Amino acid sequence: MLTGGDKLRNAFESLARIVGTRYALYPADTGFEDYLRDETYLRGDASLVLAPATGDEVVAILAELRALRARHTNEQQHLTLTLRGGGSGLSGAAVPVSGIVLDTARMNRLLDVDEKNLIAKAECGIRVAEIQAALAGENFDYAVDPSSAALCTLGGSIATNAAGPSSLKYGTTRQNLAAVRFVTSGGELISAGALPAKTSMGFSLSDLLCGSEGRLGVILEADVRLLPRAEETALVVGSFGDESGAMDFVLQLRQSGLRPRCVEIVDGYSMRLADFSLAGEAMLMIELDGSAAQVAHDLEKLQALRPAIDWLLARGQSDRAGLWKKRKSITQELKKRFAFKLGEDIAVPLTALAHTAAFARTRAAERGVETAIWGHAGDGNLHVNYLLEKAADLPVLDILMKELAYEVTRVGGAISGEHGLGRLKKKFARAVLPAAYFNAQDRIKAAFDPDCMLNPALELPA
Ligand SMILES: Cc1cc2nc3c(=O)[nH]c(=O)nc-3n(C[C@H](O)[C@H](O)[C@H](O)COP(=O)(O)OP(=O)(O)OC[C@H]3O[C@@H](n4cnc5c(N)ncnc54)[C@H](O)[C@@H]3O)c2cc1C
Repeated sequence: MLTGGDKLRNAFESLARIVGTRYALYPADTGFEDYLRDETYLRGDASLVLAPATGDEVVAILAELRALRARHTNEQQHLTLTLRGGGSGLSGAAVPVSGIVLDTARMNRLLDVDEKNLIAKAECGIRVAEIQAALAGENFDYAVDPSSAALCTLGGSIATNAAGPSSLKYGTTRQNLAAVRFVTSGGELISAGALPAKTSMGFSLSDLLCGSEGRLGVILEADVRLLPRAEETALVVGSFGDESGAMDFVLQLRQSGLRPRCVEIVDGYSMRLADFSLAGEAMLMIELDGSAAQVAHDLEKLQALRPAIDWLLARGQSDRAGLWKKRKSITQELKKRFAFKLGEDIAVPLTALAHTAAFARTRAAERGVETAIWGHAGDGNLHVNYLLEKAADLPVLDILMKELAYEVTRVGGAISGEHGLGRLKKKFARAVLPAAYFNAQDRIKAAFDPDCMLNPALELPA
């Protein structure tokens, strides 16, 4: 029997010609399988991958797709686009359900660095680390620093409103995005936002695109804000007798008036995995930056708070990098030990940090699931990592994530702080959050993409 993909072979060839057949992949081609996954355990399905080199090619693909959909009304589910940046997502948002994957990796130019206005303009497929590397040696930088900077693209980081340790002081992608140029499924090219930090021009479309998970339009280019580099940075790692003590200290820090660049928490299990030679059951990584005098003053003030049972202080670049490398090694260590790792990214008010971590760990233990918890505690953003040995146990994760989502909502938090809802959380988000919230979102989706041509997997009912 012919599949939808087979019946549409001619239609797909007309799309492939737009990008050049070299940049179109079919299911039998080497490398196709990679486009069916992101960094979750999900695997999707698709019939074609297209990798355009320019925004004009994206516009042409959308026009051809609309024409094909009008001709093949019974095959419309195969004539959809799932937008893909670096595929580093942790929510399944780029995992296709069917149709065509639009790979943005070839649209990867840094177009301009405006040193006077402190703005960088780039195409959507550039990696965040490539922007940072291009600014090395300058006295300004792009402050958004997801741990996946080497993997994730500018477009993907905007579409998920990515953040990282430094968002505590410098904000998430949203606060560092000046303007964005995108195309809707109807082919309308829209420039949203402006270079000045202050705008009051009706609904903020750039804010709407930020976190839109590819559902409203294809982001083609963006202008991001650059910030002067701090003169000096110091990293203090302090360990605590228990996790709630560490989390209470996060609140104390906020009340102290100190403004660290980041405050990260790591639980005892993860501390030992990463070989941090500190006593205790939890640790905080507190980074302070500013002028040399400011950092010296802040270090003194932090020490006066005398919170931790054990301390490390790293002031030089290589010492700091060594400690961050250890922190980032935890994921790899866990992957060596467990077949499946699912990294939650809930965010809660700081007063609920300790309770939420204990809730997640207890509920997981009750179902025989191990956890490792770390995260951007200063922002209330916790990565509860659920660890499994076998695929047969995966369904339990849906139960644990849903229970945690109810609890996080109850305490006034967000069920995703930085990864997005994706396919993983969409499944239960509509049950957990009020219907009116999603009704309003559905109306926005319908206004931008009425025929649901973009990322259809994210619209499927639970
Ligand atoms: C080791 C590791 C560490 C991580 N650390 C962090 C972290 O510190 N902070 C954080 O926030 N996240 C982190 N992540 C998650 C992930 O890297 C981010 O969500 C990232 O922003 C995804 O970008 P991407 O380019 O890989 O997008 P993809 O995974 O390809 O796609 C993500 C979403 O963006 C959409 N999209 C992609 N490109 C476009 C475009 N041009 N126009 C419109 N929509 C588009 C996709 O359709 C999808 O909905 C981490 C992931 C890994 C594997």
